[in-house]
Order: sequence, then structure tokens, then C-alpha cells
Amino acid sequence: MGSKDRGSDGSGRRVGRRAVLLGGGAAVVGVAALARDDLARFWWRLPGMEKKRVDGELDHKGSEWAAAARANWRRADRPDDYRIDRVVIHVVQGSYATALKVFKNPGHGAAAHYVVRKDGHVAQMIRELDVAFHAGNRDMNERSVGIEHEGFVDRPQGFTAAMYASSARLTAGICARYGIPVDREHIIGHVEVEGTDHTDPGPHWDWDRYLRLVREASKTVT
Ligand SMILES: [Zn+2]
Repeated sequence: MGSKDRGSDGSGRRVGRRAVLLGGGAAVVGVAALARDDLARFWWRLPGMEKKRVDGELDHKGSEWAAAARANWRRADRPDDYRIDRVVIHVVQGSYATALKVFKNPGHGAAAHYVVRKDGHVAQMIRELDVAFHAGNRDMNERSVGIEHEGFVDRPQGFTAAMYASSARLTAGICARYGIPVDREHIIGHVEVEGTDHTDPGPHWDWDRYLRLVREASKTVT
């Protein structure tokens, strides 16, 4: 094809594009903005663009890795794709061992990032960059880290000092990593998640004590 043909073809296209921009500007900008947003969110899914990750790598120092079943969480790249600005506190309604067992069961359909045992031992089951199915609410799952605590909502004697202290250190670390304010707006109970029918951590969870411990632990978090 000669240069004359290319020239006329290019000129024709320019006119076409201008007409689209003038005629349907809002729609074109809307679609472009949406595409940009998708690209910003999911660039790491493009071939060759995936971020390096190490399976079993821990976010919380001193925790034990105990992988949840793959069906109980969604692969993501937080906080690059979803901002993390909430910590959700749960109580298992059962033992630490029960929590690990059900979160390792692909049929369960739910799991939290962490499980804290009565003696303060912490299991990490899902990486913080991934979305755990723990809050029963998609938006909340995408923006939060979920922590389960061994015990029952109606047995406050099971909420030991060791568990409160260890969980507070964990939450302080999460808040420091993502710049989450240490307050009751950002550190919430499962019961406070919109649309939930869950009541945990229940009326016996000592929020004043917990927040005080998180604030104390925040001073020494690096
Ligand atoms: Zn819960």
C-alpha cells in the first residue's frame, strides 16, 4: 500500500475518533476509567507480571504456618489491589484444633487468616495478601484481616490473659503494616459486620482491655 493511501486512511480514522469523543465523551471516559481501575487491581494476573510469593511465608513473626484449604480463600495482592483497613475479631465456638480442622476442609467454605490459642500460640492459615472468607461479607473480606480465637462466646473464662496479649500483638502488627488506626471503628467484631447473623466475639469479649493491649503493643511493633 502506498503512502497516499495510508494518509487518507489515517485522516479518516482521526475524524472518526473525534466524533466518538465529542458525541459520547462521558461513556468513553467511564469505560476507560473502569479499564484503568481493573488494570491497577489485577495487573499481577497478567502473564509474566505475577508478583513473587513464597508459599507458607509468614506475615506474623512467631506464628506457625498451617495452610487453610484453597477453597476457603481467594488469591489477591493486598494491599495493592484492595486496601486493608479493618481487623475482624472472631471467636471459634470451639477449640483451636477444631478451627484448624474446619479451615483445612475445602467443604467448609470459610477460614480466617489467623487462629489464636488459649496459651497465646498463633497459627497463620492464609497470607494477609490474600482474601480470607471469614466475615460473610465480600467487601469486608476484601478489606480486612480475620483473627479467630479459641473458645466460646458465653465462656469468658476461656479468654485468657495469654490469648488477649498474643492477639493484641498480632493486631498491632497488622495495624502497623497497613496504617490502620487502633480504634473500635477499625478493629471490629464479626457481630459488627454488615448483614451478619454471627454474634462473635460476644458480650464477654473485653474490648477496653483488648484495645489497651493493642495500643501498648503498637509502641514496640517494628
Ligand atoms: Zn466469626
